[in-house]
Amino acid sequence: MSAIQQNLEDIHRNTTQYNSTLVAVSKVKPISSIREAYDAGQRHFGENKVQELTDKYEELPKDIKWHMIGHLQRNKVKQIVPFVHLIHSVDSPRLLEAIEKEASKIGRPVDCLLQVHIAQESTKYGFDEVELKTLLQSEQFDNLSHVHVIGLMGMATNTDDLEQVKKEFLGLKKLYDQLAADHPKLSLRELSMGMSGDYSLALECGSTMIRVGSKIFGERNYG
Ligand SMILES: *Cc1c(COP(=O)(O)O)cnc(C)c1O
Repeated sequence: MSAIQQNLEDIHRNTTQYNSTLVAVSKVKPISSIREAYDAGQRHFGENKVQELTDKYEELPKDIKWHMIGHLQRNKVKQIVPFVHLIHSVDSPRLLEAIEKEASKIGRPVDCLLQVHIAQESTKYGFDEVELKTLLQSEQFDNLSHVHVIGLMGMATNTDDLEQVKKEFLGLKKLYDQLAADHPKLSLRELSMGMSGDYSLALECGSTMIRVGSKIFGERNYG
């Protein structure tokens, strides 16, 4: 068994126990690595750049479920709307509007997650709690017909302090539960949190979807 297959198996033991989905983050990695994971049965893959996502989509089997996990520019939405399985990184009302527009043009429903800013770093994208609640109560939000918001996504602070990370995950889980209770019509069902360094903790904290890259494919070399 290859290293990639062994890694997938190890992580699956965890996700199966929690009934959650593993998104294999294949950014920067070659087609051959994705194929190896695919041959081991992996079907959910995540990318953070539109060009790379589109290129890989075109080259690889069509039953792959592609997740967009990186910051998405409005002028690039059109390229991924025809095939993307889930956009994790919706971080503004204007982006939501752009996705709605492109999705309605081709009559394809698009599932999205709203990205919430939970980390201490100021560089990470996402809504804060007040912005999120305002959005969900807005007329604009009510008028979305092709975009389906099915959950939230968050990235914890990049730190070895697992107590800090846990606090952030539990905070997001609490917000998610609260929004689910306040907006039953939305039927929120996905909470995307957890990466290579913190996915076990994320699962314990209620994650339904983990996004794992280097723990599967090895360190990324951006060279
Ligand atoms: C790169 C990336 C991941 C995966 O990171 P690893 O630490 O390699 O598991 C997860 N989520 C997002 C948004 C990313 O950009």
